[in-house]
Amino acid sequence: MTDQSWVDQPRFISADTAHALGKRLATYAVKRELSSLTVVAHGGEPLLMGVGRLRDFLAVIDDSLRRSGCFLRLGVQTNGTLINGEFIELFQEYNVGVGVSLDGPAQAHDRHRVDKYGIGSSRATIAGLSRLHDATQEEGILGGLLSYAHIDILPAEFLAFFAGLGVANLDVLLPDFNHDTIPPNYRGGAVAQWMIELFDLWIDRPDELEIRTFAVIMHLLLGGRFGYESFGANSLGVLVVETDGGYHASDTLKSAYEGVTSTGLNVWHHEVREAEESPLLRAAIDKAASAAAECLSCPIFNVCGGGLLAHRYSARRGFNQPSVYCEDIKAVVGHIRRRLAREIPAQMLH
Ligand code: SF4
Repeated sequence: MTDQSWVDQPRFISADTAHALGKRLATYAVKRELSSLTVVAHGGEPLLMGVGRLRDFLAVIDDSLRRSGCFLRLGVQTNGTLINGEFIELFQEYNVGVGVSLDGPAQAHDRHRVDKYGIGSSRATIAGLSRLHDATQEEGILGGLLSYAHIDILPAEFLAFFAGLGVANLDVLLPDFNHDTIPPNYRGGAVAQWMIELFDLWIDRPDELEIRTFAVIMHLLLGGRFGYESFGANSLGVLVVETDGGYHASDTLKSAYEGVTSTGLNVWHHEVREAEESPLLRAAIDKAASAAAECLSCPIFNVCGGGLLAHRYSARRGFNQPSVYCEDIKAVVGHIRRRLAREIPAQMLH
């Protein structure tokens, strides 16, 4: 990541910051008359907080929101290596949805995710995932897995690996690069080819693994209004609160430049609504307001949304240009649309 501002952040969120955040969230929920709100402990690695500190954080947020009348969904996004019986009890106590970051089979995962000794963490991640899966199979606490598209692994191998883990949900993200950081060995169209092959294998499988990326594209092709950060003209938005209480935009943007995510606002002096109005947060929520002219006239804008903000960036044009994956997205969405058209009358598709 280009942005290294996390180095200056406190290691963990303090009790005072958690209380201030809880108050701001409760005020926001009441003002916006929200029926539900999701708060996810992210990192770094949130389980490094330890069970006690994480329990205190969850309790403060839970208590603050309970009085607001807004339904609270709690989550953690973890690399899974520290999941043990105590954490599992805590997740059960607060009904915490657990997302695990797992980058495919060991040869892919261990290339990027290593422990402090430089040793790949795939074995420890899968062990933690199994403990969680075995203990909570009936409760739906295991929220899903998060991986990148790995075009150097055969889609069949990739899919078989995840389906074999027995989880219900998988999100497949496009690799993190922008117009200025395209890897020298990247072959244009390779991501599309890989995603299309994965889609064809997935859609014909009778098992229960839902790939969110494809499910959202199909939902949008069928007229759904909201996507998420990666796809769709509208998303519900993500506000990141750093451990010092600062409000930031999504950390996927950190691949652009140093300090890019900071709104300059924080839980000590500002309401969440003020942060929500900051240009980067608005750009991610209402993508039509932030997309390039080429995107606004694109026939699949309602599905693509101009791409993830991070994938739009170059130093020359900022975020005001189509995604670096523009041609790949067109190919993938076109393929899924044609596949759906075989099952559904074309006039029902957007
Ligand atoms: S497919 Fe390309 S032109 Fe169309 S909305 Fe997406 S990034 Fe923009």
